Amino acid sequence: MSCRLCKEERPIVKSHVFPEWLHGPLYANKRRFFDLRTFELKRRGTPPKVIYEELLCRECEQQFNKWEGYAHEVFFGNDPSIKIRDCGDRFDLTGLEYAPFKLFQMSLIWRAATSSSPEVPTIYLGPHTERLREMLKRERPGESREYGALLMFPSPSIQKVMEHFFEPPKRLSGRTQGHTAYKAVFGGLFWTFFVSNHSEMLPDELFFARNGRLPVFKYELPTTGFIGEFERYLSSLDPLDDQK
Ligand SMILES: [Zn+2]
Repeated sequence: MSCRLCKEERPIVKSHVFPEWLHGPLYANKRRFFDLRTFELKRRGTPPKVIYEELLCRECEQQFNKWEGYAHEVFFGNDPSIKIRDCGDRFDLTGLEYAPFKLFQMSLIWRAATSSSPEVPTIYLGPHTERLREMLKRERPGESREYGALLMFPSPSIQKVMEHFFEPPKRLSGRTQGHTAYKAVFGGLFWTFFVSNHSEMLPDELFFARNGRLPVFKYELPTTGFIGEFERYLSSLDPLDDQK
């Protein structure tokens, strides 16, 4: 069996398709979003099941673990250089390292496209799957807009509900202002991955930036421009529709 990342014939390890900690709310933790809002931490129902699959060799798995470990540190760790600020229409996390966090984001959409688990919806990224694979293998994070993910914090009315959801990436029907996009719910946040041949047309400020700033937009405020358009588009789809 060959490893999906390095394509070498090596023993494949069974591991999670998406990190376990993305199955719980990222904002219900003491250091990040939690102190900005009040949450009842009592969980109801069964926590979403972690999906395991044999995709990578041990070496490649360790490469992914490095980025996942860094992303975990961003959301749950105590690194004093990482700060969070309420900027009105969004929260800004600053002081992040660009390469590991960007590669982490890219690894999520690539794993979703590579997985053949019945629990992960099939998505076809076409030639982008191979492009992403090469970038990940060579640890090239690319530009902000290249395979960028737009993060959104849910509106108060659905925050409780969102904590209990985990949804692997699914293609949004049609095109979002001419771009193909995939929506996911990870850690109680909406993640929209843009996989586009003309990513240079996307506004830079939507995405995690080279200077280490990660914007997490608030879903509930009336916004204008691309985000406003995008929110209206998302609400027209009812993001929680297929979870009922
Ligand atoms: Zn490998």
